[in-house]
Amino acid sequence: MKFNTKTIHGKQHPDKAYGAVMPPIYQTSTYAQTTPGGHKGYAYSRSHNPTRHALENAFASIENGEFGLAFGSGLAAIDAVMKLLKPGDEVVSTNDLYGGTYRLFTSIFEGFGIKFHFVGMENAANIENYINSNTKLIWVETPTNPMLNIIDINVAATIAKKHNVLLAVDNTFATPYLQQPLDLGADIVMHSATKYIGGHSDLVMGALIVKDKDLADRLYFIQNASGAICGPQDAFLALRGIKTLHVRMQRHCENGKAIAEYLVSHPKVESVYWPGFKNHPNYDIAKAQMKDFGGMLSFNTKGNNYEEAIKVVESLKIFTLAESLGGVESLAGHPASMTHASIPKAEREKIGVVDSLIRLSIGIEDEEDLINDLKQALG
Ligand SMILES: *Cc1c(COP(=O)(O)O)cnc(C)c1O
Repeated sequence: MKFNTKTIHGKQHPDKAYGAVMPPIYQTSTYAQTTPGGHKGYAYSRSHNPTRHALENAFASIENGEFGLAFGSGLAAIDAVMKLLKPGDEVVSTNDLYGGTYRLFTSIFEGFGIKFHFVGMENAANIENYINSNTKLIWVETPTNPMLNIIDINVAATIAKKHNVLLAVDNTFATPYLQQPLDLGADIVMHSATKYIGGHSDLVMGALIVKDKDLADRLYFIQNASGAICGPQDAFLALRGIKTLHVRMQRHCENGKAIAEYLVSHPKVESVYWPGFKNHPNYDIAKAQMKDFGGMLSFNTKGNNYEEAIKVVESLKIFTLAESLGGVESLAGHPASMTHASIPKAEREKIGVVDSLIRLSIGIEDEEDLINDLKQALG
């Protein structure tokens, strides 16, 4: 089955009770038993719920995995992966990382005795320099946020295999429409399904997908034991989102390309960060491992003026100034004062997050309207 069919049919079946094509929202905590233990596969909704189950199967299908697990948020999913580790274990992580992931690693799991190395992975061979006998996990996020660097998943997987450590990939920005990390050698794929998978800015959810049964069992144990599950209503919404993921992504990519090309030719724009430009430092990797270049981009205006960047984002009329990404509506953000405000100026400028940087999540509105909105805001 091809991807565009999998989003709609992959591991998805009409509901057993009445043949409902969409799984009902099983808004129940518990299930009647005829005799102790005599139930139909569902005993308590932290452990299993039919709506969540339907979604977890769809997650597995679209990422070419065997097992999917749904969580109450992207961070809850990452939290479950970290609970595979023990004090003394070490993790080699991407340095240009989603801020919440960085906070979870450094403010929670460092306190539990896990050591993190934050490494520039644009040259993925760098990863190997930080691996020792305590290393248990490599954490990759690609494309990165907000600089849109690309990390070679194949190279990371080769290093992980060689040293017998797990490779996890945060696939939130790319989605399985653009890249399927399990096929490139990753052991775990993670999503903030809050973003493109849900796709409509109406839920918060996380996902893990794996191929290996033993790893799936360990993660399921953690999901059930720690309890960070999603509710059935959100599971229904995410499943509904998945069914249009491929058509939405196609348009996100088309609009992203049009806007990247418009911005790069704008006289007030200094630089545009988008992996589809031939002069992007990781263009060849992006071209090889991604089907297209996605709907995320960042740019900055000449003169690196903080006030001017704020004025631009405040002047936008169709783009909404907001955190998050991946919804049908276009969003604009100012990393220096929003997502990356807690990082000292000198530190964030080192990775390119200057005062004038603006991040855009390009939605699926009309391309001309989006360009005209940017034109008036920059003018
Ligand atoms: C949003 C996001 C997360 C965190 O997910 P939540 O659903 O907000 O908990 C993790 N990684 C990336 C790349 C994200 O964009």
